[in-house]
Amino acid sequence: MSKIVIASRNKNKIEEMKSLVSDLGIEILSALDFPNLKEVEEDKPTLEGNALKKARYVHKITGLPALSDDTGLEVEALNGAPGVYSARYAGENVTYQDNVMKLQRKMDGKKNRNAQFRTVVALISENEERSFEGVCKGEIIQEQRGKKGFGYDPVFLPNGYDKTFAELDAEIKNRISHRGKAIQKFLNHISG
Ligand code: IMP
Repeated sequence: MSKIVIASRNKNKIEEMKSLVSDLGIEILSALDFPNLKEVEEDKPTLEGNALKKARYVHKITGLPALSDDTGLEVEALNGAPGVYSARYAGENVTYQDNVMKLQRKMDGKKNRNAQFRTVVALISENEERSFEGVCKGEIIQEQRGKKGFGYDPVFLPNGYDKTFAELDAEIKNRISHRGKAIQKFLNHISG
């Protein structure tokens, strides 16, 4: 494998994934390098379904090995919501802030604040279709803290840390995060 395409246009995700796989010594491209790629609708009921769908499409169009991720925030007190619908929790075409504010409203007064991020990373190449899962457990705090990261990071406190994902340096988030863990499994797989 000399090149791989990250099946995403989300600059935050691309940066995180690039830094996680940078030691591989392979050229890392993303959907931003292929303007003819269309947006893939994430309409599957599972993270794995969406991740495989995105990577299959990008592999088919580019002919290169494709790596995609789909992530959900699963909150215990909300029976696993927003889960696979995390990107559009507050509706279609909403901002990260809209989603975070809806989550805070739903969590108002809840004693059980346990939550986890779950990522499924899919790899599609000529020879194989694989998926790798990573989970990071933590809790949802009442206020927003920190300016780094993206999405629900300002309200997610990973277990064992007193800083939210939005307060932690990217290097630490990458080491302990759902995405970091899923990518680590992918790295173990391809390095045999
Ligand atoms: P996606 O469908 O994989 O793009 O992710 C769904 C939603 O989960 C995104 O819109 C973000 O709001 C959120 N999300 C994904 N990864 C992270 C993360 O690492 N931190 C915080 N929020 C995230």
